[in-house]
Amino acid sequence: MAAGRVLLVEDNAMNRRMAEFLLRSKGFTVYQATTGEEALLMAREELPDLIVMDLQLPGMDGYAATRTLKADALTRHIPVVAMTAYAMTGDRERALAAGCDGYITKPIDTQEFPRVVARYLASSPGPETAGG
Ligand code: MN
Repeated sequence: MAAGRVLLVEDNAMNRRMAEFLLRSKGFTVYQATTGEEALLMAREELPDLIVMDLQLPGMDGYAATRTLKADALTRHIPVVAMTAYAMTGDRERALAAGCDGYITKPIDTQEFPRVVARYLASSPGPETAGG
C-alpha cells in the first residue's frame, strides 16, 4: 500500500523536484501544481491525503489557496502543510491563520521532510470526520 497521496504545490522547479524525489523515495504518490489556481483544481480532482503548500506563488498565493481549500466542504478536511523560506516575518502565524495545519521552512531538510509529511498524514482525521 502506498504511504499516502500528496499534492505538492511549489513554483520553483528545483525545490519541487527535490521535494518530489524525497516523497517518492519514501513511497508517497505525488501530484504536482505550480500555481494556487492549479492547486485548487488538483485538490478537487485528486482529493489527496495531504497538501504541501508553498506560500509564495505567482498570482493566487499559498495563503489564498489554503483559505479557499478550507472554505470548501470537499477539500477542507485535507491537511495543508505550509512551506516557506521566510521564517522570521510572521509567516507562521499568517499560515496558521489562513488555515494551514502545519508549517515547514525552506530549504527543506532532506531527512526530516518525509518524516514531517508522514506525521501530518498520520494525524489527519480523514474525510469521514470532516465537518464534525
Ligand atoms: Mn515559491
